[in-house]
Amino acid sequence: MVKVDEKGFYGKFGGAYIPEMLYPNVEELRTNYEKITESDEFKDEFHALLKDYVGRPTPLYYAKRLSQEYGAKIYLKREDLCHTGAHKVNNTIGQIILAKKLGKKRIIAETGAGQHGVATATVCALMGMDCTVYMGAIDMERQKPNVERMRILGAKVVPATSGSQTLKDATNEALRQWINNPVDTHYIIGSVVGPHPYPEMVARFQSVISEEIKYQLKEKEGKEDPDMVIACVGGGSNAAGAFYHYYNTPSVRLVAVEAAGLGVASGKSAATTALGTPGVLHGSKTLLMQTEDGQVVEPHSISAGLDYPGIGPVHAHLFDSKRGEFYAVEDEDAMKAGVELSRLEGIIPAIESAHALSVLKQLKFKPSDVIVINLSGRGDKDLDTYIKWGGY
Ligand SMILES: *Cc1c(COP(=O)(O)O)cnc(C)c1O
Repeated sequence: MVKVDEKGFYGKFGGAYIPEMLYPNVEELRTNYEKITESDEFKDEFHALLKDYVGRPTPLYYAKRLSQEYGAKIYLKREDLCHTGAHKVNNTIGQIILAKKLGKKRIIAETGAGQHGVATATVCALMGMDCTVYMGAIDMERQKPNVERMRILGAKVVPATSGSQTLKDATNEALRQWINNPVDTHYIIGSVVGPHPYPEMVARFQSVISEEIKYQLKEKEGKEDPDMVIACVGGGSNAAGAFYHYYNTPSVRLVAVEAAGLGVASGKSAATTALGTPGVLHGSKTLLMQTEDGQVVEPHSISAGLDYPGIGPVHAHLFDSKRGEFYAVEDEDAMKAGVELSRLEGIIPAIESAHALSVLKQLKFKPSDVIVINLSGRGDKDLDTYIKWGGY
């Protein structure tokens, strides 16, 4: 059974491992979020914005030429067509409405590559809320267009200058700021990570993906359940959304794809389930890549969105309980799969999503198998990476 308990655990993983100083903020959220998000008022506003602002429902597209290539019936869930170009906005819309209902005036967020920062700056503009995004100083250099996007949208982008000056340090900085401004500030976390209730809350906002897959597949195939759902996993929010309504339907195989970087054994990867051990990262107990004395190992992936040293606790549980099947895809193979989809279907995917596509080569199918791949984002943001790679 995949279900979160009272304390935020999925099996052995989850919980809220936070400093004393953060307790009141997290507790306020925990005691209020279910009541608010289950109210009709919240649901009406959330679904109206998903429809008219984000552009939902996103299509479930039967990819004919891709299907012929792999000998199965392959559908693509088109999260790449969401406003801002990826699934992340489903979560930021949910959290901004929640923040407003909690009476918050100010939003903070962390970002690595800048995709979550842009999705947060977007909804803050939409709601007229003050927005500050913490970003590693090195990431700000590497991801200039997204820094400028956030600034155009009216957000303040603050460099995190400690440690490796990347995502983990930006997260630490955002948490520090939240401790200092508990009353008027809400912290929007970008994936199914962080202390309880964040992982389950974010998964519920993203679960609109599998809610739509069910009725869309029923229309097209006469049944709600595919044989397999495939999604890439950075922190795991698009995968959690695509799996959510299938967690407890054992006939549906849940296939999660991590980034193997230059190779699982190369020392430059983000393949958490292959290499990780249990530990605490950003407030929850999960699997993470760490040294024997518990120092977080710097991850590597060609795709910024998968470049994270842990996974959300629900995925650690899916792995541990064997409900989920975990694969890893190397940089080079992901890039090739991105070009393959571009040539076969006229869709240039985000490199994160290309990892999910590439796993088709590692799986075996029957012609009658119905496969849904969650196409988490579009490739526009990755043009520079495609160009530098050059293998097309
Ligand atoms: C951020 C991102 C991801 C990874 O995040 P998850 O929380 O694992 O979904 C995947 N795809 C795209 C397009 C992204 O922007």
